[in-house]
Amino acid sequence: MRPVFTLRHSGNNMLTPDTAGGVFQNLVDGTWIASSSGATFENRNPANHDDLIGRFQESTPVDAERAIEAAARAYESWRLVPAPKRAELLFRVAQLIAERKEQFARDMTREMGKVLEETRGDVQEAIDMTFFMAGEGRRMYGQTVPSELRDKFAMSVRQPLGVCGIITPWNFPMAIPSWKIIPALVCGNTVVFKPSSLTPLSAVNFVKVLEEAGVPPGVVNMVTGGPDVGTVLCTHDAIKVVSFTGSTTVGRLVNQNAAPGFKKVHLEMGGKNIVMVMDDAQLELAVEGCVWGGFGTTGQRCTAASRVVVHERVYDQFLAEFTRRVKALRVGDGSNDAVQMGPSISEAQLAKVMQYVEIGKQEGARLVTGGNRLTSGDYARGWFHEPTIFADVTPQMRIAREEIFGPVVAVLRCGSLDEAIAIGNDVTYGLSASIYTRDVNRAFTAMRDLYTGIFYVNAPTIGAEVHLPFGGTKATGNGHREAGIAALDVFSEWKSIYVDFSGKLQRAQIDTE
Ligand code: NAD
Repeated sequence: MRPVFTLRHSGNNMLTPDTAGGVFQNLVDGTWIASSSGATFENRNPANHDDLIGRFQESTPVDAERAIEAAARAYESWRLVPAPKRAELLFRVAQLIAERKEQFARDMTREMGKVLEETRGDVQEAIDMTFFMAGEGRRMYGQTVPSELRDKFAMSVRQPLGVCGIITPWNFPMAIPSWKIIPALVCGNTVVFKPSSLTPLSAVNFVKVLEEAGVPPGVVNMVTGGPDVGTVLCTHDAIKVVSFTGSTTVGRLVNQNAAPGFKKVHLEMGGKNIVMVMDDAQLELAVEGCVWGGFGTTGQRCTAASRVVVHERVYDQFLAEFTRRVKALRVGDGSNDAVQMGPSISEAQLAKVMQYVEIGKQEGARLVTGGNRLTSGDYARGWFHEPTIFADVTPQMRIAREEIFGPVVAVLRCGSLDEAIAIGNDVTYGLSASIYTRDVNRAFTAMRDLYTGIFYVNAPTIGAEVHLPFGGTKATGNGHREAGIAALDVFSEWKSIYVDFSGKLQRAQIDTE
């Protein structure tokens, strides 16, 4: 028996039901069914925890195994559907999501709190990714190369692997599942999808569209639940690829659990991203970028600009304007159009933010604005926190090194580009970085020397597009990328094929001289 690595969670932020939400089921082998556990968990609105969105299946390892077995059976026929035909279904999926964009965005805001503008963007990413990947159904290019022997033909083709285990976080509840499931399907794999228990409604919305578009039974299965379900997706013999996005701590467990079975493991994990503001930067632009990069999605983006390093010549000016803008941010329920920043996703996430604010204070960083939970009036029913800036942060402080995943930005000081780059690289993560400068030499130097998977010039650390690779270095990733055609490398394997049409034995790799 293989050891299974687990993480023990303390606390439980689920609340007692007091309003009636519907009960949502798992999708296994084309049928919506309840978990064998008979248990459900609640999904509540983080802006108002009196608002019960629904109950979802608290699935067991047995449920996950059944889903995997269904996916393994479906794989035998799905892999033989020509890729352009698979893609036709996916084009339909993209169209259906586009038709329902507004409802899906509203559901998403209700279950995870980010403002409507952003949840519309999340759904749009799923649309964009699905259209882009469906196009791959008619490409998926391999190589043809000349053979070193006469009358021999040499080529490579992409082949699917089998059943993919898809494990996703809550901060991009439709975009991230689409980034994994759609390329897996176009390549000819089948999937078992376990969404975050904090955003299962968006997962249901997405899977229902796949079903409605005509994706055959068993090709896409969804099992909601916790780490036990995730562990089965990492360890079951029939799973060939595990694609995980989430924290580095859980990603490490996923990696450890999948290793003995030699599964292909694709990990997208945490970040501690930096914006570098040089003394020649267009300051208003840099401030605007840092407000958006730091506080968009309430700082709960893997690419959030949680560190800003500013050249000492413009430090005070930048900080004054940045603080003024952040103080003016309107915090509240994301479904209200006037709101600019929503709540934290959960009580546990809010507690983590508050803990880091204490750490920042104890470390001697200067709290410039924010620092408190919001509890008055309507705030009392949600997980709200003030947008918070710490200034005079030094690179060794924990608030400058650890992922907080909340509305807290650390501002550091530097004396040169070299120093900014050194600070930028001196963390365990390597997802995204950016520079504000008008000097092309500085821009290119930074672009080359920041060891991250994504880099921006004169823009914040967020804003990736679906047709370029997405992912990070060091503790952010394990060398794979999603999005772009890089995603095909996760969900397919190369097969090199040689066709000898000489009618005789031709021997390669033999020294005939
Ligand atoms: P998380 O690691 O807590 O959970 C991610 C998923 O893993 C969830 O579905 C969860 O139920 C599941 N899970 C938990 N324990 C498991 C186990 N033992 N085995 C298998 N699966 C298990 O992360 P989260 O809180 O949902 O998301 C926030 C994190 O995700 C942040 O660290 C953020 O940086 C990261 N993230 C990274 C990217 C990226 O592309 N690099 C994108 C978005 C979010």
